[in-house]
Amino acid sequence: MRTVDEHRAVVAALLPPTPVEARPLADALGLVLAEDLRAAVALPPFDNSAMDGYAVRAQDVADAPVRLPVAEDIPAGRTDAPRLEPGTAHRIMTGAPMPPGADAVVQVEHTDGGTETVRIDRSVSEGTHVRRAGEDAEAGTLVLRAGTVLGAAQLGLAAAVGTATVRVRRPPRVLVLSTGSELVAPGEPLAHGQIYESNGVMLAAAVTEAGGIAEQLRFVPDDVEEFLAVLADRISRGDGVDLVLTSGGVSAGAYEVVKDALASRGVEFVRVGMQPGGPQGAGRVSGLAGAASGAARADSSVITPGDETPVVTLPGNPVSSQVSFEVFVRPALRSAMGHPAPYRPIVRARLAETLRSPAGRRQFRRGELDTTAGTVRTVGGPGSHLLSALARANCLIVLGEDDQLHEEGSEVDVWLLER
Ligand code: AMP
Ligand code: MG
Repeated sequence: MRTVDEHRAVVAALLPPTPVEARPLADALGLVLAEDLRAAVALPPFDNSAMDGYAVRAQDVADAPVRLPVAEDIPAGRTDAPRLEPGTAHRIMTGAPMPPGADAVVQVEHTDGGTETVRIDRSVSEGTHVRRAGEDAEAGTLVLRAGTVLGAAQLGLAAAVGTATVRVRRPPRVLVLSTGSELVAPGEPLAHGQIYESNGVMLAAAVTEAGGIAEQLRFVPDDVEEFLAVLADRISRGDGVDLVLTSGGVSAGAYEVVKDALASRGVEFVRVGMQPGGPQGAGRVSGLAGAASGAARADSSVITPGDETPVVTLPGNPVSSQVSFEVFVRPALRSAMGHPAPYRPIVRARLAETLRSPAGRRQFRRGELDTTAGTVRTVGGPGSHLLSALARANCLIVLGEDDQLHEEGSEVDVWLLER
């Protein structure tokens, strides 16, 4: 039996860092900067007014109240702000360039708002309400380090310093393929013995949440030929697939379609010391060439013999599938994208109840963390089919493989599942 950490390493090794590419800022949300980003211009690029008001020389308003002639109007965007002569004021708006000769701004609320002449009611010191060029960032300085995750604020900053495209690791493209002869698409009628297919949408969403690009393939019955044909047809299209994620058909039963199809094609099937999610498989699939359906096979040039697409095969029980994704696939996808924190945030919390876990297996229970109290309790039982409990949980409780009894009040690791 393989340990969780061993299988994690096997899956991680299947996903090397994705290539670096230039992307427009609008397509870079959530991606990781691959190179340091320097400011092309200073921020702000020029001295400008922080207020709507009047640009003045502080010494001219020292004896306020005073009345000054208004010589010019400088709205934001004016590029030729004329010089301020001593003893005059320029009306100025927030973000407009400070005129040469002015050294302070009196906000409009402290004036009569005049346009020909203005009464200044208060004195100001030099530099009042002036935003200095380079105050936020000097031109040429490093503003975002390689490894920074690009969220809203980081993208805003990149734009503000004049960046049009950023160099990031491209998101991995992941195919999701569900298996099972009992599966029916939601929205279709359900016969006795059939269930709705739920792993496909769930795993595809999990890939998207992790930052990857998910593509759901048509789910297939427990039929080796059909499974291989769907896979081979898609892979033969040739536009880079970084990972295939299957669900179902990997345990010890009689109709284990994924195992039957891929065991001889480069995928290793193992038992991992965890619950849920014992049966797992991973490898690089080869020899799909002969498996394509008629159309794809006819054009033999599209199948690359010896293609080596990474495949991770997850168990079919929905909770097993999703927990396995959390444990093995999510960190591997995020590492491949250069993410500085590939793992879920882990906190320690006290158990609000006594729990038992199986010997020699790391158990991942669905939990509800009370952050105020610092305690955690389970949501639903350990059964790997209890999807509604998973949907209510806000964390996974990790019960180590070395202990079977976990007393109320003892501390455990908790993985935070934020949405
Ligand atoms: P398997 O791993 O194929 O033996 O499936 C284990 C259990 O998970 C069975 O009860 C299946 O019906 C269920 N299951 C497998 N795949 C899916 C799926 N895509 N959606 C919902 N349930 C599934
Ligand atoms: Mg099945």
